[in-house]
Amino acid sequence: MNIPRLAIIVPCYNEELCIMSTATRLLQVLEHLVKHNKIKRDSYIYFIDDGSKDRTWDIIEDLHSKNRLVKGQRFVKNFGNQKAIIAGLEAVKKIGCDCVVSIDADLQQDEWAIEKFVDKYMQGFDVVSGIRNNRKTDSFFKRITALMFYKTMNLLGANIPVNHSDYRLVSSHALDVMAQFNERALFLRGFFNDVGFKTAYVNFDVKPRMAGKSKFNFMSLTTLALNGITSYSIVPLRLVSVIGFFMTFVSFVVGLIAIINKVFYNQAQHDWMTSLILSCFFSGLQLFCLGMIGEYVGQIYREVKGRPRYIIDRELK
Ligand code: UDP
Ligand code: MG
Repeated sequence: MNIPRLAIIVPCYNEELCIMSTATRLLQVLEHLVKHNKIKRDSYIYFIDDGSKDRTWDIIEDLHSKNRLVKGQRFVKNFGNQKAIIAGLEAVKKIGCDCVVSIDADLQQDEWAIEKFVDKYMQGFDVVSGIRNNRKTDSFFKRITALMFYKTMNLLGANIPVNHSDYRLVSSHALDVMAQFNERALFLRGFFNDVGFKTAYVNFDVKPRMAGKSKFNFMSLTTLALNGITSYSIVPLRLVSVIGFFMTFVSFVVGLIAIINKVFYNQAQHDWMTSLILSCFFSGLQLFCLGMIGEYVGQIYREVKGRPRYIIDRELK
């Protein structure tokens, strides 16, 4: 196998404090890999500015004018980190590359692990997923919710490794396959793990954020999780029918007991607490199930409209 032309894609949202040193460090990695004859000379970095409101884009333009190995595009507005990564994958597919690595702009992921990614690629793997050794840098809340999310996804059959992030390498073959999936809300972690590519794993250390604050908040993480689940699995919908069936069965049994009590023992049911608890429980359950179905209706609504996943404002190639 020939040594690959590598592209590194970096989603960025308000990362003016990080992006300069991120570019420098990633260029060092590229240089190192070129020197050791592991990648081609025209390997490059591709930034996706996800509608930043700070100086991020200016810095990218500046970097590009000094070094053509730094390329990038800018969204007209913020579309979220998943869309930015998808845009990056689609852009480097057009520009051309043999494999592509996605990494965060704050370089929390150890950038030197890219060498191991490329080694795995050379061994013939189409997807190489980065697995973080720990989550020490995350808050307790984020650790718990992330664990809950991955456990749920895996229960639903997604099989995503628990400490996987969007730090991964994919081959151009995997990009070709991805292009055949037209859905708007592609959940990359589920997708690349599930399509059936030959996959390898590489462990890496997580560092604290270089500068600035996390660009995710409770709402955006919830959206990511809900999108992940509803774009990926219809098991929750089935669960609604199963719960409904089970509840009907329970109420049938309770009704039967009440009738038996009345007919054979002449005991009437007059505990108002019971009815209050039951009515609260069932109305809550119904609202929950409705909400769950609503999430899917929303997902269908967005897919049916078939709007573009993102809109590019400008590109530097
Ligand atoms: N990001 C993005 N769009 C967003 C939010 C985040 O492109 O709407 C980028 C961000 O710039 C970073 C990556 O996604 O490169 C991961 O974000 P962050 O480091 O803030 O998340 P955390 O590490 O806290 O999970
Ligand atoms: Mg981060």
